[in-house]
Amino acid sequence: MRAKESVATVAVATAKLAPSGICPARRAGIEPRDSASAESRLAKHALVLDWDGTVTERDGLHMAIERFGDLGVFDALEDELGKTLTLDEVIAAEMATITAPLEEVRDWLVEHVRVRPGFRELVDEHAPLIVSSGFSELIEPILEREGVRARVVANHVAAGADGWRATFAEGPLCEVCGERCKRSAVGSLGPLAYAGDGYSDRCVALAADLRFARDGLAEWLDEQGVAYQPFDDLHDVRAALRVLQEDDAGDGRGG
Ligand SMILES: [Mg+2]
Ligand SMILES: [Zn+2]
Repeated sequence: MRAKESVATVAVATAKLAPSGICPARRAGIEPRDSASAESRLAKHALVLDWDGTVTERDGLHMAIERFGDLGVFDALEDELGKTLTLDEVIAAEMATITAPLEEVRDWLVEHVRVRPGFRELVDEHAPLIVSSGFSELIEPILEREGVRARVVANHVAAGADGWRATFAEGPLCEVCGERCKRSAVGSLGPLAYAGDGYSDRCVALAADLRFARDGLAEWLDEQGVAYQPFDDLHDVRAALRVLQEDDAGDGRGG
């Protein structure tokens, strides 16, 4: 147990560091006029969105566990995040408390999960990639309900008689946080704008050139001294991206 704790502690300590050699202020990049290269960077940003709590108003996994699983297990395990358990381990244990059929939970989520205003417009304008620590089986039906087509990178879950079983993508551990984090899904995208709200967004947010954050992610970025743009709904993200692009265009014409 001691060995496991010490490994987890190292992982957490590492996660708190900005990627080596990169000044947090320079990475903030939210002010397009702070750099001569801003206009070329901003024009090419790929937009990546977290799903639960970012696109959706409430975390759908939390809603599902609250309705169909054991929220006590959920609360106890959340406290172990990054200490003795990885995020994948916490999510797997939480999902195992659900025994209802997948279709029942899916249909309930389709009825109750709400997406933030501006989602459809944001997808139309920026064709974002959605990267979730949750499950495709619970995300795709919401996209379908919304009439939105978007690329999704997520995990998978199947119902079992003794609880749901989550499966996670195999892959190397992240060199920065020590977990299989969202960085692996965005590594090939180039300059990145990222919007998120929670624990699973921390490491990948540090890799982004522009950050949009709320709730726990915003608090954590404050603690790290890393700049971000707060958002309430997704119209806020659209507006901020539009201002950056307009500033870009203005700088281009003026220059
Ligand atoms: Mg989230
Ligand atoms: Zn990482």
